[in-house]
Amino acid sequence: MTAVSDVSSDPIVYLNGELVPLSEARVPVLDRGFIFGDGIYEVAPLYAHPAHAGGRTPFRFQQHLARLARSVDRIGIVNPFDDAGWRALIAQVVAANEADGGLRADQDAIAYIQVTRGVAKRGHAFPAGIQPTVFVMVTPLNLPDAAQRAQGVRCVTAEDRRWLNCDIKSVSLLGNVLMAQYAAENDAFETIQFRDGMLTEGSSSNVWVAKSGVLSAPPRSHKILEGIRYGLIEELAGECGIRFEAREISEAELRAADEIIVSSATKEVLPVTRLDSQPVGEGKPGAVFAALYAAYQRAKAQEAREAQQGVENESRERITV
Ligand code: PMP
Repeated sequence: MTAVSDVSSDPIVYLNGELVPLSEARVPVLDRGFIFGDGIYEVAPLYAHPAHAGGRTPFRFQQHLARLARSVDRIGIVNPFDDAGWRALIAQVVAANEADGGLRADQDAIAYIQVTRGVAKRGHAFPAGIQPTVFVMVTPLNLPDAAQRAQGVRCVTAEDRRWLNCDIKSVSLLGNVLMAQYAAENDAFETIQFRDGMLTEGSSSNVWVAKSGVLSAPPRSHKILEGIRYGLIEELAGECGIRFEAREISEAELRAADEIIVSSATKEVLPVTRLDSQPVGEGKPGAVFAALYAAYQRAKAQEAREAQQGVENESRERITV
């Protein structure tokens, strides 16, 4: 049997109604996720807050659940759970991993959720009446290290050759996978893509540009995945008094930026200080990054406080998992 190569521990995962060790979780080969990449996924951070009794705060979880609902809807799968059902399920998987010792109470975690159309005789069009496959895995979250935050990372660039439904969080990720591999082979952190000379996004991150104190990003459209951090960073920029513009950004503008920042659930915000072989701006993390990073950490603390109040006040909805 093939071992799962990069999973050193064996977390308890949820698969179709059962909690099982990852090493024992199996889906039939005719699952359309395997055969066609016919499914969607979601990745949400669950921050540990040992200071409060409520445990973990699923950060911006309502937005993650809303995006999950949009993704299944876009591909014609009936959402297997409502929001309360998803929350209960994640809480169950977290509890199983804490009890099992695979996840310490003080460890930040990441919830990976995947829904595929299910198992059916192979044929491209949707078969009627099949049950979606539901998979949930909660593993420790490894945020970028201090050196990456302090010095920034190098990114490479490439033409965006993906399909034009990048707003669906599809498990059909071959275009993104090839771009991530291109970065890995070129000793870079991430590949930043252009379509027709205009910035789109990274292989697994949104991209932000700061020039003369103004922050911009490509507008929400079918050409990018709208990260949950997209709306968050808009809000944080507002709090910090940084003007934000959603607009098309040319390759030349990206290369002339004072600062470039990438964002995602697992990176939060991270400065890009080299692009291909050139420094970005002064070649070190800038003031816009510093302000957004600090505001991001405040937003995490704020959600933890709200979660704690929810636990203490029975009249409010309990939002911790
Ligand atoms: N774009 C792509 C292609 C991604 O894979 C991701 C990561 N899920 C993002 C953007 C950022 O999304 P989020 O902020 O929700 O992690």
